[in-house]
Amino acid sequence: MQGLMMDMPLLISSILRHAARHHGDTEIVSRRLEGDIHRYTYVDCEQRARTLADALEQAGVKHGDRVATLAWNGYRHMEIYYAVGGMGGVIHTINPRLHPDQIAWIVNHAEDTHLAFDITFLPIIEAIAARCPKVRSWIAMVDEDRHPVSAAIPNLVNYEQLLRSGRSNWRWPEFEERAAVALCYTSGTTGNPKGALYSHRSTVLHAYGAALPDAMGGSARDVILPVVPMFHVNAWGIPYMAPLVGAKLVFPGSQLDGASIFELFESEGVTFSAGVPTVWLGLLAHVRQQGARFSTLQRTVIGGSACPPAMIRAFRDDYGVDVIHAWGMTEMSPLGTLSRLQNRHLQLDDAAQQKVLEKQGHVIYGVDMKIVGDDGADLPWDGKTYGNLLVRGPWIIQAYFKSEGGDPLQYDADGAGWFPTGDVATIDEQGYMQITDRSKDVIKSGGEWISSIDLENLAIAHPAVANAAVIGIAHPKWDERPLLIVVKKPGVEVTREDLLRFYEGKIAKWWLPDDVQFVDAIPLGATGKILKTRLREQFRDYRLPGL
Ligand code: AMP
Repeated sequence: MQGLMMDMPLLISSILRHAARHHGDTEIVSRRLEGDIHRYTYVDCEQRARTLADALEQAGVKHGDRVATLAWNGYRHMEIYYAVGGMGGVIHTINPRLHPDQIAWIVNHAEDTHLAFDITFLPIIEAIAARCPKVRSWIAMVDEDRHPVSAAIPNLVNYEQLLRSGRSNWRWPEFEERAAVALCYTSGTTGNPKGALYSHRSTVLHAYGAALPDAMGGSARDVILPVVPMFHVNAWGIPYMAPLVGAKLVFPGSQLDGASIFELFESEGVTFSAGVPTVWLGLLAHVRQQGARFSTLQRTVIGGSACPPAMIRAFRDDYGVDVIHAWGMTEMSPLGTLSRLQNRHLQLDDAAQQKVLEKQGHVIYGVDMKIVGDDGADLPWDGKTYGNLLVRGPWIIQAYFKSEGGDPLQYDADGAGWFPTGDVATIDEQGYMQITDRSKDVIKSGGEWISSIDLENLAIAHPAVANAAVIGIAHPKWDERPLLIVVKKPGVEVTREDLLRFYEGKIAKWWLPDDVQFVDAIPLGATGKILKTRLREQFRDYRLPGL
């Protein structure tokens, strides 16, 4: 027997429409590249997003077409999110910190038809425009009187001018909730970056999940400032979760230093924020230096990399701010687990509570997880046994965009597919997960991926190098930094500086290894693959220069 409830599809346009209708005068505040603070309401945002959707449709964007962005967190980026997704297109957010060659590769792989960009990224667009023939227009997200002139970019369009060609009485269409809404590439896998393609349904469910009190927890009393960029897994879902609960939003634009963020926290009454650990190091340093206090900030989500225990302590003990340590992935929309105290923990002393908060946390409804051995068999939840972490749920990918890399899932005896995260973890008796290692061969620096394989392939191309391996070494600010380990060819001389210079122009600057170590041999497994676990063991006590 079927239920007799309305079959209303879960579409992202319904979130913004809800915010405009029921939290209409709630503000969205943005620090603009133009230099000023821009403020308007959910009513204004919804109206401009709808008008832009019509303008894009008139410009030829069709259902399923990808429209890319290279942009900071700001109101125009929010409008594009909803305009493109709401009309049935796919918003493809690109990480501007990638090398322009990688950006061009991603644009072409996604077959983006239009690309909207903040003018900070004009040099990137100038470098790639000629290499991306499928992009029909490049949209500069800036006031008309600041519109750039560039001979290198054909079809350069101004955002505000484009917006004027749309009709404000255009209405959001209704379509199937499983339609794609957003595309985000991750470099956290081997080989080329791979796309996670979210659906309207997965995005709305994830926004509900994110808003739960033991997840991020959002309400109409909150003022939320996402430091996490809108090109990092949709700013962890905040652009969807905030209008869903009617929270005020504050966008920091390109100024992500401690002083600028703190100023916005105080001037806008921010209660809740989110970002990777590196960002909070800068903020805490600024607040300490100034002898300042947070007058309104209550909690902040920290994830993307392991949050240092001292950071949780500093926020809690020195400033009365709760840190919610969170773990997730691009492939998971991204929320998986968050560490919050339960009733059972309230009687524990401070040190024991801190131990709980340091873990990556407990799943929220919508995510199931388990740890398994290399044979795929379930491992016990005892807080000690560690294994490969697998996840499953309605906001977790079942395949990568264009089926890149084949079927990524691992199947259990009942035929259920689980996504292998590439993380190695323990789970305790109460279901709190803690990451202990990573089986995937990538390095995470300041919340961004560095491909060890790319760095190795480049090093091996050097005429004096017989073999090379790159591993991540712990770093107090960046979490991990790459170390290049090299076996020289017999009888040839090559220095650390020669090798580092060899990378110049071939990779983004921040990918450059922090140091080079020369060894006689690199440990190899039976199939000839480099044994990274053995190398990590060998370099356990190694310290990067200057630390
Ligand atoms: P991304 O897809 O870029 O969001 O990266 C996801 C990966 O980042 C995870 O698979 C982990 O390896 C790592 N990660 C994310 N959050 C945490 C955390 N809280 N602690 C440790 N590692 C994390």
